[in-house]
Amino acid sequence: MQRSRCDLLLCYGVIATTLVAAGYAFVRDVCERAKEAECSSGLLGSRFLIEAYRQEHNGRYPMRLDELDWRFAHDARGGCPKAKGQFPEGEGWRSYLYIPPRDDAPDDTPILLCWRHSRLMLITKGGEFKKMR
Ligand SMILES: [Zn+2]
Repeated sequence: MQRSRCDLLLCYGVIATTLVAAGYAFVRDVCERAKEAECSSGLLGSRFLIEAYRQEHNGRYPMRLDELDWRFAHDARGGCPKAKGQFPEGEGWRSYLYIPPRDDAPDDTPILLCWRHSRLMLITKGGEFKKMR
């Protein structure tokens, strides 16, 4: 009789451990999705700044991101949430990798990237936002 009671407690323990592990994985996944959403918002905001720069410079892309006017791009200024604390306040945009495209580069050429997530997130020369595995 004592043995079956121990087996029952062990069974409850295994079930409880499994539920806690599944809950932890779920919460971790939700947190990662929230960080991806915040980061994609920053990338898209940066894209608009790049386009504004191009309109003022005869279609030319900036050579560096610090040529852009970040004062009013609140979403983009924060940069990637996974890089918080690595850059000065208001300069989180430095967490993105920017590659100025050549004039003859195709529209699907990546120009702005974040690699800090499970999926690579990028903006193409044509302005498209993509998530890649
Ligand atoms: Zn990011």
